[in-house]
Amino acid sequence: MSQSHVPDHAELPPPSLEEVSPGIFAYVQLDGTWFLNNCGFIVGKQSAVVIDTTSTEKRAHAFRETVRHTTSHPVQALVNTHSHGDHTHGNYLFSPETAIIAHDLCRDEVARQNIEATQARFPMGDFGHPIPTSPMVTFPDRLNVFVDDLRVELSFVGPAHTTNDVIAWIPERKVLFSGDLVFNGGTPFALAGSIAGWLEQIPRLRALGAETIVPGHGAVCDASVFDTIESYLRFVQSTAKRGFEAGVPPLELARSIDLGEFAALGDSERIVGNLHRAYSELRGEPRGTVLSPAAFTEMIEYNGGQPLRCLA
Ligand SMILES: [Zn+2]
Repeated sequence: MSQSHVPDHAELPPPSLEEVSPGIFAYVQLDGTWFLNNCGFIVGKQSAVVIDTTSTEKRAHAFRETVRHTTSHPVQALVNTHSHGDHTHGNYLFSPETAIIAHDLCRDEVARQNIEATQARFPMGDFGHPIPTSPMVTFPDRLNVFVDDLRVELSFVGPAHTTNDVIAWIPERKVLFSGDLVFNGGTPFALAGSIAGWLEQIPRLRALGAETIVPGHGAVCDASVFDTIESYLRFVQSTAKRGFEAGVPPLELARSIDLGEFAALGDSERIVGNLHRAYSELRGEPRGTVLSPAAFTEMIEYNGGQPLRCLA
C-alpha cells in the first residue's frame, strides 16, 4: 500500500489496511484524533463499494491508491457515513465514475463545505485542495447496496454525531461500519448532532449483534465499545443538567468539572461542544439545531488557547 504521501508524524503509525472479513477491508488511521478517520471498502467478485474517504488531499490520494492496489474491480458506489470533511473530502477522487450515496441531509452539508475555513480552524493540519463533491444518491431512512450478492444495509441513525449519520451493516458477516457514532479511544462529539438522539441509537446498535466494528475513529473493535460511549454521553447529560439549572455557562462548567474516567479519552476539549449541545436540548431546541461558532472557539479556549490537535 502507498503511505509515502501521507505526512510523517513521529507519534503516528502510517495508515493500515485490515481485512476484517473476507473481502471487507478497514483502512485505519491511528491515533484517531481530529481528521484522522477510518474508512474502508468491500470487494466482491466483480465490483467494489467504498465506505467513506479521508480528510486531506494527500491522505485521500493515499486511500484511493490503496483501493486501486487492492482491487482492479470498478468502484460502483461510495457511501458517506456523514458529511464531515474527514469522511467526505476525498469524494472527488471517486467521482464521476462512482455513485456517491448518503443521507438526504448530507448532500447540502457537503455542498456547503469550506475547506479554507477548516484549514484556518485547524492550522496544524495540511488539507491541500480537495474539491467538495456532493453525494448523487440520497435516501431518508434505509437503503440496501449489494456488492455482488453481499448485502450492505445502510440506515439513518441521526441526529446523533451529526444530523445525517448513516451506518453500514453487513449482516452476513456481522461487520458494522459505524461512522462517527463510534469513537474508539476518543471523546464522542455531538456538537453538530444530538446527545439524546445518540443515546437513543445505542440500544439499536447493540441489538445488531456486531462482532466487528470499524469505528469512525480509532482501532477496529467489538460491541463493548458502546459501554464507554453511552456512559460518557450520560455523564454529559447529567453534568449539563446541573450546570444549566445553576445558570453556569458551558465553558465555565467544563473548566470546573473533573472528567474522571473520561479524561483518558483523546480530544477531551470536546466536552465544551458537547455541553453546548446538551444545553441546546435542555432549552428545548430541535435536535441538530445549528449552534453558534462560539461553541467551537470555546473548545480552543478550554485547550489553553492552543490549536486543536490535528495531525492530518
Ligand atoms: Zn464526524
